[in-house]
Amino acid sequence: MNKNDIITLKIEDMGIDGEGIGKIDGMTFFVKDAVIGDEIEARITKLKKNYGYARVEQILKSSEFRTEPKCELHRRCGGCQIQAMDYAKQLEFKENKVKNNLVRLGGFDADFVDSVTEPIVGMEEPYRYRNKAQFPIGKDKDGNIIAGFYASRTHSIIPVKDCMLGVAENREILDAILSYMRECHIEPYDETTGRGLVRHALIRYGFTTKEIMVCLVVNGRKLPAQNVLVEKLQVISGMTSISININQKNTNVILGEQTEAIWGQSYITDYIHLRDCTNFERTGKAISYHISPQSFYQVNPEQTEKLYSLALEYAGLTGKESVWDLYCGIGTISLFLAGKAGHVYGVEIVPQAIADAKDNAKRNGFSNTEFFVGKAEEVLPEFYAEHKNEKTDMLHPDVIVVDPPRKGCDEKCLETILLMKPERIVYVSCDSATLARDLKVLAEGGYEVKRVRAVDQFAHTTHVECVTLLQRKDI
Ligand code: SAH
Repeated sequence: MNKNDIITLKIEDMGIDGEGIGKIDGMTFFVKDAVIGDEIEARITKLKKNYGYARVEQILKSSEFRTEPKCELHRRCGGCQIQAMDYAKQLEFKENKVKNNLVRLGGFDADFVDSVTEPIVGMEEPYRYRNKAQFPIGKDKDGNIIAGFYASRTHSIIPVKDCMLGVAENREILDAILSYMRECHIEPYDETTGRGLVRHALIRYGFTTKEIMVCLVVNGRKLPAQNVLVEKLQVISGMTSISININQKNTNVILGEQTEAIWGQSYITDYIHLRDCTNFERTGKAISYHISPQSFYQVNPEQTEKLYSLALEYAGLTGKESVWDLYCGIGTISLFLAGKAGHVYGVEIVPQAIADAKDNAKRNGFSNTEFFVGKAEEVLPEFYAEHKNEKTDMLHPDVIVVDPPRKGCDEKCLETILLMKPERIVYVSCDSATLARDLKVLAEGGYEVKRVRAVDQFAHTTHVECVTLLQRKDI
């Protein structure tokens, strides 16, 4: 068997990145874009001792789980890994991914994991769900300015203006930005030389308010002829906030630290409604959030409501509890909790997000929240060390909610949670591998996993969100 050989494979499994897995002559092959159940001819692209990688050349027999993707670029673009797979099968794949990680990386027994896992929460219509898009701007081979997405595992841009996961409004906004750049001779940023000005266009859309935010990320301190850009953008229905973000570093991180509004407000507003939660007394059924360009905000509004309602249900609040919400962003989950708790303390690393959180609490009439800027793994241990001899409900809260980024919780943060001994921990996670790792630590520290539920925030990708309830064993 050699590189470039054509092999025939039956795809019998799927890897964590959505790739098809097939076996031949004792060798395991990973094949991007092959769907479980496919029979294919594939070209070997890389060979190792007992496994290799291959590319689909021809589908001999199509899997019953294969479906017609809405986006013709889905194979090239790095955004959607499993768009060619039937949505019900995608959901099954994600639920299994979470369960497998809990068993493999968390060390939990498979039957136990089955017994605590509830059915994954899917979408009704899994397209056009994203309220945020970040388009890199560059040039094609012929020197034309383009906006799009990075091709899978590369930094070369495929022109895409109308991503099927994003809102239809993105196209008009990108057309306006590219026409401004052409007219005013504004160069896109070039990663290899570090020259050029415009790096990314960040677009946010408030699903409930229809407000639009555009933020151009620039490798410079000013945008020449910015009035031309503003003129083109401000006529788009819903335009609310136009800003530039300054990023002069040679880095893959999209946003720099400084943002400057150049037209309209520095934020947009959106509402999150509570589902299945009729006893939400404080503010009625919707909370409004101000969102700044640099703040985190869940990208899938339809699923966010379901996710937060579950987190709230798992928290089991009755109105008196003291709750910490770690990694709180703009206070989204914090305010849901605050409607049913005695007091909520939020911690978040991005100062602008905490400013939004404080403002959101005030505007929605909450007086039982407090927010702290800093790393959860520093704020919490420092708070504990400083106050450990005092009698305060903050030291021994009833519930701690954590919602960390993909890398999960820092050890120091978990250690302090164990010292604080909350009755319940609600862990909201966007990466089930680090979730499993952290649940292992919490389980060894005296907690029992009670409920696990995946929520599909990212249809057509291999990512999945998950909520877990843990309870202290000695209760
Ligand atoms: N709970 C919020 C945000 C979740 S995303 C929501 O649902 O909207 C994770 C958040 O953690 C981001 O806002 C990110 O800025 C923040 N973050 C990242 N590392 C952190 C750390 N070490 N300590 C505290 N917050 C952190």
